[in-house]
Amino acid sequence: MRIGIIGGGQLGRMLALAAYPLGARVTFLDPAPDAPMSHLAKHICAAYDDERALEQLARESDVVTYEFENVPVTSALFVEQFTRVFPPPAALLVAQDRWEEKSFFSSLGIPTPNFARVDTHSELMEALENIGLPAVLKTRRLGYDGKGQFLIQTHADSERAWAALDGNALILEQFVDFTREVSILAVRGQNGECVFYPLVENFHRDGILRLSLAPARFLANAAPNDKRAQEYAQRVLGALNYVGVLAIEFFQMGDELLANEMAPRVHNSGHWTIEGAVTSQFENHARAILGAPLGSTETRGYCAMVNFIGELPEIDALLKISDAHVHLYDKAPRAGRKLGHVTIVASDEKTRDERLATGDWRFSSL
Ligand code: AMP
Repeated sequence: MRIGIIGGGQLGRMLALAAYPLGARVTFLDPAPDAPMSHLAKHICAAYDDERALEQLARESDVVTYEFENVPVTSALFVEQFTRVFPPPAALLVAQDRWEEKSFFSSLGIPTPNFARVDTHSELMEALENIGLPAVLKTRRLGYDGKGQFLIQTHADSERAWAALDGNALILEQFVDFTREVSILAVRGQNGECVFYPLVENFHRDGILRLSLAPARFLANAAPNDKRAQEYAQRVLGALNYVGVLAIEFFQMGDELLANEMAPRVHNSGHWTIEGAVTSQFENHARAILGAPLGSTETRGYCAMVNFIGELPEIDALLKISDAHVHLYDKAPRAGRKLGHVTIVASDEKTRDERLATGDWRFSSL
């Protein structure tokens, strides 16, 4: 089977690495000549809206998928004229717009932080009145890793945020004083079969994921709420007639889960599954889009996944940690850029934490 991937970043790279043992051939489309996938698969080097290139990708692939959610919806629909596209492009439409996304969650009865659509200054004032302070003003589109977001704690902040973001379609959200952040990774096959990985506990700084602990720890004030997260994910998967891996990020408050956003693709908070689960998120995504049976999501122990952000740590030191697995993405260092990650696995939480404590994580700002 031939898989086409729109986007050639680290997610595509890890997806290809998981798909090859299943006998797949992989072609990808990415405008960057030095995309992380470039030494790994056939590269169609063109813009994401280049119809000739998209048609070539489609004709060379039995199924096309994507590895980032800002793929132009028009491109996904264009490819669909020639071959199957999974996850369905409708999932992109929802995930590309924070207001559509939160409205979609609400329509499925999935709780979210309070939110309001903001297009004008007076709508911002009205939304602040209704939602209260603190609040977060975000661009509806093209924001990721905390970009295009302003925390509003005072009236002066709201004017500064408006000055910075005016001209964009915006959403105002209640600032959630969450207990912690968790995510669920769900997979749906072409026959409607669904499997779920356990909830993962995520630590962000400056809006960028730094550390994931999997499974999420048991906290007295916020027990993992896998059943509820699975129910919510199941609603999203069913509503979109979804195929592939879907990630949903939640703010947890006590045992309440408020959906923040979804990613219709493999996800950074699921990298631990490569070594920490019976079947990785990448293999399960490949299986789903190829129409194969899904693999077990059972864990192989307790994992910690640390992202390498902006610069690389001393790799040899990490490789000396027992059951530590380093992944480098072949990317040039740049501030805020995800260059790689390490997953540490252990048979119990205490050993996992001890192994994690031996690493030097200054570079990751943990
Ligand atoms: P996002 O781009 O929406 O995933 O936001 C990136 C990170 O900013 C989240 O993972 C949170 O840590 C933080 N954040 C975003 N929205 C809110 C909110 N409404 N309340 C509290 N923290 C937030």
